[in-house]
Amino acid sequence: MTSPHNLSSAGAKLLFETSAFAEGLGMRHRTTATFAVINPADDSHIADVPDMGAAEAEAAVVAAKSAFADWSALTARARADILRRWYDLILQSKDALAELLTLEQGKPLAEALGEIVFGAQFIEWFAEEGKRLYGDIIPSHASDKRCLVLKQPIGVVGAITPWNFPSSMITRKVSPALAAGCTIVIKPAEDTPLSALALQMLAEAAGFPHGALSVVTAKRAEDVADVLTTHPDVRKISFTGSTRVGKLLMQQCSGTVKKLSLELGGNSPFIVFDDADLDAAVAGAIVTKFRNAGQACVAANRIYVQSGVMAEFAARLKAAIADMPVGPGLEAGTRIGPLINQAAVDKVGSLVKDAVEKGAYLALGGALHERGGQYFAPTLLTGATREMDIFSTEIFGPVAALYSFETEAEVIALANDTPYGLAAYYWTRDIGRVFRVGEALEYGLLGANEVLTSNPATPFGGMKESGLGREGSKYGLEDFIEIKYLALGGI
Ligand code: ADP
Repeated sequence: MTSPHNLSSAGAKLLFETSAFAEGLGMRHRTTATFAVINPADDSHIADVPDMGAAEAEAAVVAAKSAFADWSALTARARADILRRWYDLILQSKDALAELLTLEQGKPLAEALGEIVFGAQFIEWFAEEGKRLYGDIIPSHASDKRCLVLKQPIGVVGAITPWNFPSSMITRKVSPALAAGCTIVIKPAEDTPLSALALQMLAEAAGFPHGALSVVTAKRAEDVADVLTTHPDVRKISFTGSTRVGKLLMQQCSGTVKKLSLELGGNSPFIVFDDADLDAAVAGAIVTKFRNAGQACVAANRIYVQSGVMAEFAARLKAAIADMPVGPGLEAGTRIGPLINQAAVDKVGSLVKDAVEKGAYLALGGALHERGGQYFAPTLLTGATREMDIFSTEIFGPVAALYSFETEAEVIALANDTPYGLAAYYWTRDIGRVFRVGEALEYGLLGANEVLTSNPATPFGGMKESGLGREGSKYGLEDFIEIKYLALGGI
């Protein structure tokens, strides 16, 4: 049995339950306003969700503040038990959650499933890591005194998340926050609220207390963000999205001096040296450039190829790109889904046009795919230069732009010639170069002969204008705690 959206019966059931949950949330908040969620694959209407604003955001903060006292007083183990139940429920529903994600976001189903499982792993990992949030006793400067360091949860956290990874960008923030003892209010992206609501529904089933985790869906992000960034009871904002909005939020947070974690835009270099394993480099380029149709902040944005292997690399990459099926994410075999909206299609089209006008060679694609709608054809440009807009703009589309270089020093300077510093990839079999280049690149995430850099145990985050703080890993947990120093006298 399939639903009108070609969902499996489990997917259709989850969509029905999530829509009902959303309606119930609207009733809880006494708001009747809604906004539509649209399928980017065919522009069809999927569901309506509550259009909340400042009043609902305020109520969520009040609930989070009131939940904080009890939640933070639980033992880490008690919190971990509930987190673990949430993880189990997500995994039990992973196929249906993946369908829901594809439906609202567009990515191929296999990628959506990968995201659900990847995102859930953060919950499991932080549930355990929360038990290891040790304080310190510092050797004292006087025999009748003791110096103690206490680690305590920061308080209420506001999270603002993007549409390109609508599930894992939430779990990556929520799980360390909750594991540390914080409570959290999430404003998901307006294009993809269903994945967030489904996560909240499962969280309630797992037994989180009321107010510990709330989702505030809104068409107008500013209305909710203004409350989260100015409310004195919100002690931290964790944001993933554009550098433009990140800077805005940073300004707004200054009034109440909130802690901030920011995962912002990128302009990732992907460097192929003469001695690289070319097959592995091509396979890596395909994954990091074309996953989610290129709509990832860690996507390879500028592909630098040393001149000696340029012709060979370009030919192999072209053959690999030409093979990638374009279509709806729920259609079997699809590798490239639709872009998120028409504005994204227009932006990618204008970047390609500018590059070609300034002398790039269009080896493949370059325009809307024959499927029309929001499907952009996988594209290969060679002969790209730093004068083109594509050099300095985050492409966020299935467009690979190849730049030629001669020397290691030249490519390091080119790679660092950007205000961004999120991810960089490079391919070489020379171990000395792995260290030299890695230490010279101004990026928070380095992939040497590797593109899949993120997992729950490792730190994810950028340098320069790509952000502040780290997610994942023990460092990501520390971002949700406050350090208190207790000086004990009179011993
Ligand atoms: P993108 O360009 O990838 O859509 P955005 O930074 O615009 O990235 O969006 C990321 C998140 O920030 C989304 O949840 C979005 O609703 C929210 N957002 C967008 N504009 C604002 C704003 N002016 N203030 C606060 N949040 C915003």
